[in-house]
Amino acid sequence: MKKVLQDLNFAEVQALVLSMGEKNFRAKQLFEGLTKGKKISEITSLPRPFKEKLLEEYEDEPVKIEEIFRSADGTEKYLFALADGNVVEGVLMKYKYGCTQCVSTQVGCRMGCKFCASTLNGLVRNLSAGEILAQILAVNALHAADEEVKGRGREARAVTNVVLMGSGEPLDNYAQTVKFLKNVTAEEGLHIGARNISLSTCGLVPKMYELANEGIPVNLTVSLHATSDEDRARVMPVARAYKISEILKACAYYFEKTGRRYYFEYTLIEGENCDAAHAEALAALLKGRPCHVNLIRLNEVKERSLKATGDKEAYRFLGLLEKGGLSATLRRQIGSDIGGACGQLRARRLEERAAAGTDGRDGSPG
Ligand code: SAH
Repeated sequence: MKKVLQDLNFAEVQALVLSMGEKNFRAKQLFEGLTKGKKISEITSLPRPFKEKLLEEYEDEPVKIEEIFRSADGTEKYLFALADGNVVEGVLMKYKYGCTQCVSTQVGCRMGCKFCASTLNGLVRNLSAGEILAQILAVNALHAADEEVKGRGREARAVTNVVLMGSGEPLDNYAQTVKFLKNVTAEEGLHIGARNISLSTCGLVPKMYELANEGIPVNLTVSLHATSDEDRARVMPVARAYKISEILKACAYYFEKTGRRYYFEYTLIEGENCDAAHAEALAALLKGRPCHVNLIRLNEVKERSLKATGDKEAYRFLGLLEKGGLSATLRRQIGSDIGGACGQLRARRLEERAAAGTDGRDGSPG
């Protein structure tokens, strides 16, 4: 695999351009072209010999939208093809203020959560910072000509908010994730504010402390899904490594360092974590903390036996949290007609490939 030019920040692109014997202004042309989501070969302001030299070393299009699934509610899901043949998925959710894109940070995942499709075949590899960024660049380019986007002003882009909630555990790919966060927030780049970015983690405590010290105050979201370590370990193996009490301490530190309230995700799983007693325990655990709880309806994964709760039970659970003094919301179900949360699209694609006898590099073990 060739290198990924989108890994570089503006200063690094400048250094590269100068090292190749080109004038400094070429760096700006190149970087602006990439930031618009163009392939190297498509940047018309650059001389062809320079582009050819770049293409000897760098991928022309490290992340390509391979397939788009459109929902009746406007949500779009994507399968992105990487240069080595791996695929990851993403989602674009449309809101009044703009669009939130969900990006992947790894091909597969090694955290082993029992309800999640991303982890079914383990971790294949980490994405580089540029591969994470290029998922957004590709979606911006796809929507660049939309009236709605143009209506928002000259420099407007489709993607206004980003959530790191696609496949992978972002803090298990810490260096590339942080590099991505630095690059995507940079003024010369997409310049998306840290406040418009949410990072979701299963709770890798030491890395949560590190992130708090980076000076990039993104919204920190922790996947909790249980109220005791014992219950949590049944659905999230990572619970054996880090206790809920340690997670709460790390969250408090995050708040102290960034001034940002933090979030918990709690996926409602029938017979597992959504009785009245669980709601009360959750309220007792989190009451008085500067946090917000996002309840999620389980997206049933066919390879797993876990079941979603009904709407009535979900609202009852929400009511109990509110009564218990928590700030909480039940996440609206979007794009359910096109299926696929967290790795389900990719899992389906891997099945198709296997059926066609072209399993390629997508690395299901064995
Ligand atoms: N690895 C990170 C981010 C990935 S997923 C993390 O664990 O937070 C984003 C959220 O979706 C997490 O809260 C995850 O637990 C949840 N999730 C995964 N699979 C799901 C499913 N099938 N239904 C509902 N939520 C799911």
